[in-house]
Amino acid sequence: METNFSELYKKYNVPGPRYTSYPTVPYWENSPVETDWLQSINQALNEAEKAQVGAALYIHIPFCESLCTYCGCNTRITRNHSVGIPYVQTVLKEWQLYLQKLERKTKPLITEIHLGGGTPTFLKSEELNTLIRGILNTVEITKDHEFSLEADPRVTTPEQLELLRELGFRRLSLGIQDFDLKVQDTVHRIQTEEQVLKITEKARALGFYSINYDLIYGLPFQTLDSIKKTIEVVQKHRPDRIAFYSYAHVPWIKPSQRRFTEADLPSADQKRALYELGRKMLQDAGYIEVGMDHFSLPTDSLLKASEQKQLHRNFMGYTSRFVAPQIGLGVSSIGDSWRIFAQNEKHLETYQARVEKGEIPIFRGHKLSSEDLILRRHILNLMTRFETEWNEESNQTEFLEFVPEMLQEAKKDGLLKIENSSLKVMPQGKAFLRNICMAFDARLNRKAPQTRIFSQTI
Ligand code: SF4
Repeated sequence: METNFSELYKKYNVPGPRYTSYPTVPYWENSPVETDWLQSINQALNEAEKAQVGAALYIHIPFCESLCTYCGCNTRITRNHSVGIPYVQTVLKEWQLYLQKLERKTKPLITEIHLGGGTPTFLKSEELNTLIRGILNTVEITKDHEFSLEADPRVTTPEQLELLRELGFRRLSLGIQDFDLKVQDTVHRIQTEEQVLKITEKARALGFYSINYDLIYGLPFQTLDSIKKTIEVVQKHRPDRIAFYSYAHVPWIKPSQRRFTEADLPSADQKRALYELGRKMLQDAGYIEVGMDHFSLPTDSLLKASEQKQLHRNFMGYTSRFVAPQIGLGVSSIGDSWRIFAQNEKHLETYQARVEKGEIPIFRGHKLSSEDLILRRHILNLMTRFETEWNEESNQTEFLEFVPEMLQEAKKDGLLKIENSSLKVMPQGKAFLRNICMAFDARLNRKAPQTRIFSQTI
């Protein structure tokens, strides 16, 4: 039977989560207080240190010089760079609060530091140096540590990369999105191939061994022709990894997305065609599709992790290993101890004021129930391996009885196979992975959102 994808896109293009967490943020309800959060981190730190794997730190730098209109991140737009040093001092103070309140006898063992944003390279070299050395002086680092950062090619300098390399950073993720000038102009992010190439080459020369390009499909005015040209440029520069994200149109949450109209956006059919073309071109160039919307060269650890079933997915997307706890520092950062999620204040001044008062500045989160923990594992399995099974008591929960019934239609459409408490996503089902995960989302199924929250799944 020939699959009619156009019909399937119509049928399955519904609002749905991207599952960077389970439960998804709108369903967080059981907020931890500071002591719950600290206890949970201590427990996860003990487990991580016993296994000699260490913890991860995510540090959010919210500043950007200008607003890209598609952006879904927590940002503060400013050209005033004097905000950098007070912010760095607050983050270091927040980290000191953790060190005091965790009351550990030894320095915590850390295996990952990730600088995200916003634009981490908004900070000057001296500020980045103060921030990272301020952290490194207080922790032990595992031998196989990985430090990574997100960078904007328009504002990142060779000197910043030199410093970050000296501090141990070896992974770099560049925000590219699209090389077409009309698309760039519409989303208010004009950047040239030369800017991207300069940073890519400098990073390679310095020994950064994993360079990622972030691309987006589904942006206003993108066409098959514009995507083709963008991917041709990407093929030429051969980043180790590519995140080829689906644009999430949520103007009711991000009003800057109202600067273009829905008529400027490709339809669901057209959007998927953009992805299919990009995927084919990347595969022809030797990239392997990993997880949902990600591609890796055979030499990169993301592919190895996928082959060894070690791939993980968190708030930043796919990573090559599972690390817990993840402690989030900075405004709006999310921490994850596996059993608890906790998010910092999203408003910059409130975040700073709470740290000044000596409080761990979390304002919401979720303590996972035993059902949440089991369903979290299944959704993660689907997102990273395209399969899951629930034939042992430890991975079973009552809700799973309803899942095969909910997926009957998807099974008939050839998107998946379900046999004896195990599910496998078929190749034609990969485009509908978010929809398949939704069947495992007990919270979403018990209570549909009352307002528009999620972007469309296609
Ligand atoms: S540079 Fe990145 S974080 Fe800043 S506005 Fe643009 S997309 Fe958002």
